[in-house]
Amino acid sequence: STQPPWRDFDRSLVYAADLESALHYLFRVELASHRSLEGEELRTFKDLVTLLAKLYPGGGAVVKLMETLSDWLLSLPLQKIPYQAVLDLVDNKMKISGVFLGSQMRWVGCQGSAPGLRGYPCALWTLFHLLSVRRQAAPFALQHTALEAEAAPVINVMRRYIRTFFGCEECGKNFEEAALSDSVAEIKSPEEEVMWLWDQHNQVNDRLAGSLSDDPRFPKGAWPPPSLCASCHDEERGLHAFNRQQVLQFLLHHYSDANLSHKYTV
Ligand code: FAD
Repeated sequence: STQPPWRDFDRSLVYAADLESALHYLFRVELASHRSLEGEELRTFKDLVTLLAKLYPGGGAVVKLMETLSDWLLSLPLQKIPYQAVLDLVDNKMKISGVFLGSQMRWVGCQGSAPGLRGYPCALWTLFHLLSVRRQAAPFALQHTALEAEAAPVINVMRRYIRTFFGCEECGKNFEEAALSDSVAEIKSPEEEVMWLWDQHNQVNDRLAGSLSDDPRFPKGAWPPPSLCASCHDEERGLHAFNRQQVLQFLLHHYSDANLSHKYTV
């Protein structure tokens, strides 16, 4: 397959094109391998749609679509939903104005230097980090939804999604083990949820550094590097340590609306 032309980007920004491409892949490719949704799958799907409807950056077609999907799912008394019905909504067969999901896969911050590297898994991490930060910024956004009582709603929906739908089974297993051993159950605040996800992602980076899935142009390692956040790094008796307070401030900025670039979206 031919590689698309390289898109210049800034590592200090988050790109809406990556998030929208991830949603396109999730709704049109990953879900498409399920002919219908029921039971645990249906509950997980509903929760993901709720999370996106309430927390995805506002004003665009994505939120409108997720709100429409969410209302539709809640109004349905069905125990089982054919995937085709979801696809019809996502493709806006009803022609409701402004409600649709772009059908381009256009990786920007998640571009890989060769086919098969980065792309969807990168954008999925990005999406959930961003949702955890959006939740910190809007602590009441999930009120009156099925997720309102959860102390770590973003992580818990992510866990269920990764376990139920994500193509990489081993990833699901590892993530679930981490959630149990590093005690997601002890998370009490939105800030702790943001930090747990950061910590966990760094553990995955550490484990995968130098492996086959590591893109040589984007080597994995402790993140953010000093080039993105110098004050995040401390030295204690000659050993490197993260300054967690600075890391939190950095994450709240990095994944904020103000740092979201709409370059390369249509
Ligand atoms: P990614 O690790 O995907 O990171 C995407 C972007 O997030 C980075 O470019 C950076 O901007 C930002 N980022 C990096 N680190 C952090 C951090 N600590 N906090 C906040 N933001 C950060 N692959 C496996 O081979 N084995 C596994 O067990 C495995 N488990 C996974 C579990 C989950 C939940 C997910 C979503 C993916 C998993 N993957 C696993 C895939 C793997 O983690 C990478 O997503 C993939 O290899 C692509 O890596 P990448 O270099 O594009 O950056």
